[in-house]
Amino acid sequence: MAKKTSDPRKWKPATLGIHGVDRVEHAHFAVSTPIVHTSNYYFNTTQEVYDFMKAKSEGKVIREHEYGRYGNPTQAECERKLAAVEGAERAVLFSSGMSAVILTLMTFMRRDGHIIFTSDCYRQTRDFASNLLAEFGIEVSLVDPTAEAIEKAIKPNTNIIFTESPTNPYLRCLDLAAVVKVAKQHKVKTIIDATLATPFNIRPLDMGVDVVIHSATKYLGGHNDLLAGVTLGSDKLMNDVYRMQRMIGATPGPLTSFLLERGLKTFGLRMKHHNEAGLVVAKMLESHPKIEKVWYPGLPSHPDHKIAMEQMKGFGSVVTFLVKGDDARTRKFIDALELYLITPSLGGSESLVTQMWMMSFFDYPEEYRKKIGMSDNLVRIALGLEDVDDLIADLQQALDKI
Ligand code: PLP
Repeated sequence: MAKKTSDPRKWKPATLGIHGVDRVEHAHFAVSTPIVHTSNYYFNTTQEVYDFMKAKSEGKVIREHEYGRYGNPTQAECERKLAAVEGAERAVLFSSGMSAVILTLMTFMRRDGHIIFTSDCYRQTRDFASNLLAEFGIEVSLVDPTAEAIEKAIKPNTNIIFTESPTNPYLRCLDLAAVVKVAKQHKVKTIIDATLATPFNIRPLDMGVDVVIHSATKYLGGHNDLLAGVTLGSDKLMNDVYRMQRMIGATPGPLTSFLLERGLKTFGLRMKHHNEAGLVVAKMLESHPKIEKVWYPGLPSHPDHKIAMEQMKGFGSVVTFLVKGDDARTRKFIDALELYLITPSLGGSESLVTQMWMMSFFDYPEEYRKKIGMSDNLVRIALGLEDVDDLIADLQQALDKI
């Protein structure tokens, strides 16, 4: 018999990442979740099939699994832990953050509806919003990442507000309580991509947000070694998201689920390090004579510092800044870095660096790129789990070279 815990909700994310809410008994009493590599699950007799189907049609569960696209034991355990960490009734896992974003939107969007997005958002989300949704007859507004701008954009047919918080790359933090208030007044669903915050730093569901999404590729997985996404919320809403997930089959495999669950075991420890490293490095960069400007919500200079301090426990390890100088000088700085790998992504064990215009916006016309702030000297670093002294020394030596 699996042991029941008295009141797991009192536990903090670090503990929930290891134990979840309800302990599930594994084969052989294994401490780690087994990787169940199978695409389908057999029945012994046609009577078993009949009983299973009948129970299912009545909304009852007499056994969990039937076919790989509909679920897998390793995936189910990972979903239970993710839900526990987020404080959600249910989590639905996807094969990437983008499949979580798009399939969650497809679950809740309505023909002739209107969706409000905030402008400083992940490039692929922006492309889906700006280029694809119109094809489905959905109206889209891309507004400044503030509750006031969202409120102004509400129309009679608005049915979803979708925002990131913090946003990417400027780390704008929305006043989520104010966004929820506007949404509830107008009976609009709120979906927050909280990838950059994680459930360690912000609790959107506790603030009344309807649905939370994470690219689990980032801090939740935490080791730059997997792709996954997760959508979380009430059982009722997640039932609808699950229908989309099982139909399309954008599910992570059992090995990815295992790696993600393993990542959750060090989630609390890693986030403490990421938060501390982010703040120290942001302060160092802000005081450096060769840096023009830094965006980090933990700095008083950040436009959303006040609301970030109120709503968040920490600010993560992404720091965005402008190098004083042009494209060539910025590239010289990046090329001189020894520890930071030149690659997109964030939230893993290795520190990463991205020159934003080149890595994420290369195929946009220069004029548009500049309009949305992707100047040549805009750099985003995502600090990993290395010693902070080494990370700072590396930045300093690279800046010394320009
Ligand atoms: N949302 C945010 C905020 C991101 O930064 C990213 C990726 O960088 C995604 C979604 C997409 O996640 P994935 O790469 O796992 O599809």
